[in-house]
Amino acid sequence: MKIVIAGAGIGGLAAALSLHRAGFRDVTVYERVRELRPLGVGINLLPHAVRELTELGLADAVASIGVPPSRLSYYNRFGQPIWSEPRGLDAGYRWPQLSVHRGEFQLLLAREVERRLGPDTIRLGCELIGVEHLDPASPEARAAGHAEFARFLRKDADGRTEEFEVAADVVIGADGIHSAMRAQAYPEEGGPVWNGLILWRGTATVPTYLDGRTMIMAGDGEQKFVSYPLVAPGGAEGATRLNFIAERRAPEGVDETADWNHAVDPGPIEELFAEWRFDWLDVPGVIAAADEILEYPMVDRDALPQWTFGGSTLIGDAAHAMYPNGSNGASQAIIDGRTLAFHLANEAAELGAAAAQAGAASDTGIATAVRAALAAYEADRRPATARLLEMTRQLGPEKVMQLAYDRAPQGFADIHDVIPAEELQEVADGYKRTAGFHPAALNERASLTPDSAPWMED
Ligand SMILES: Cc1cc2nc3c(=O)[nH]c(=O)nc-3n(C[C@H](O)[C@H](O)[C@H](O)COP(=O)(O)OP(=O)(O)OC[C@H]3O[C@@H](n4cnc5c(N)ncnc54)[C@H](O)[C@@H]3O)c2cc1C
Repeated sequence: MKIVIAGAGIGGLAAALSLHRAGFRDVTVYERVRELRPLGVGINLLPHAVRELTELGLADAVASIGVPPSRLSYYNRFGQPIWSEPRGLDAGYRWPQLSVHRGEFQLLLAREVERRLGPDTIRLGCELIGVEHLDPASPEARAAGHAEFARFLRKDADGRTEEFEVAADVVIGADGIHSAMRAQAYPEEGGPVWNGLILWRGTATVPTYLDGRTMIMAGDGEQKFVSYPLVAPGGAEGATRLNFIAERRAPEGVDETADWNHAVDPGPIEELFAEWRFDWLDVPGVIAAADEILEYPMVDRDALPQWTFGGSTLIGDAAHAMYPNGSNGASQAIIDGRTLAFHLANEAAELGAAAAQAGAASDTGIATAVRAALAAYEADRRPATARLLEMTRQLGPEKVMQLAYDRAPQGFADIHDVIPAEELQEVADGYKRTAGFHPAALNERASLTPDSAPWMED
């Protein structure tokens, strides 16, 4: 089975490793940029994603570049505690949560793809520009031996471009929030949807706060500060390298262009948070110490009615870009790749068994198996991510901060005077259930690694 992936981001690379683990060998990843560089700042890999990475044999490698947060604690804009919960192993999961630098994690996955699938698996400088889906029974598809045709634009160092086409059985659109494959399927959709908030993301080396491993969120739905360590405590003299996100309704002049490379001056952002000096964290001090601050609008995309067209489908942000409330974007992309590989492997195994019984595979057998697998993948993942997307629009687990603000905008002596403990617990539990990482459900759920695959490709 010939599989083409467009996009060597977190989702595309995780899908390549998942397909390889499931037995597929003819997998090629085409990436638009001409060089993979460690771009971005911090992301969180929640226990449901770390489980998948563990089952891909990457637990130690990912742990070596990440920090398992001990707790997630929410505060109001005065630094008063609202809710705090243990995370990862401390919360009863069989897998940790890991905070990692997105760019380092992407490069780790890319190295692993090249090591396992071969050094020329990732083709850089190749931008997907369209996919044609033929009827598998058509004479053209029969002649080509494949029904999907992905078209790419290759750019060389001098800016010269060349168009080329790749025939495949499966094309996976892992091309991110500005997905070309999605735009082709939904030409009227336009750009991402902006809610008027702006995120300023950065990393900074600052004095260790709390236990050195706590992820904190302070503020409410209008203005918020999030930080978590990217390096375990114990480094240079009580200092820690942390990731932070400062979030606020956009000031005048800031627009909604969603570009991860847009660096800005920290001064005005520090001003916006000037009052946020808590006795356990100096927020303006963190902002002032930033290595670089990247500005990004809080954008997502509406849920789609369909991801799969012929033998092509969407994964990750291309399928369901969502707000970072709940820190789930990268984790969901990883689970998409694993789920897709699982269903493709199951259908391929059935196809192999049927062909063995009949003495040969039918001409259109692969296309039929692919369509069944993509339908099963979409049935598993599209409704689940649509529910999650909707929850992130309602602030996800961070809703507790808005509740505290609505009920006590000037602060409180004790949070339980304002929000009963049971209500706080239900917000946290409800989000985990929807996102598929409630400890009981995750610990018990069957693995997405297919059973041994006797049909495995050489
Ligand atoms: C440069 C960059 C920095 C980021 N930094 C952060 C961050 O700091 N924090 C955070 O929470 N999230 C960040 N994200 C988003 C985060 O990685 C995703 O939300 C999440 O990991 C889902 O992964 P994905 O693979 O679906 O998308 P992405 O990780 O965005 O990957 C998409 C990939 O597809 C490539 N691509 C795009 N169009 C085409 C095309 N037409 N043909 C071929 N390839 C194409 C892109 O270059 C990219 O490599 C960043 C994304 C990018 C691209």
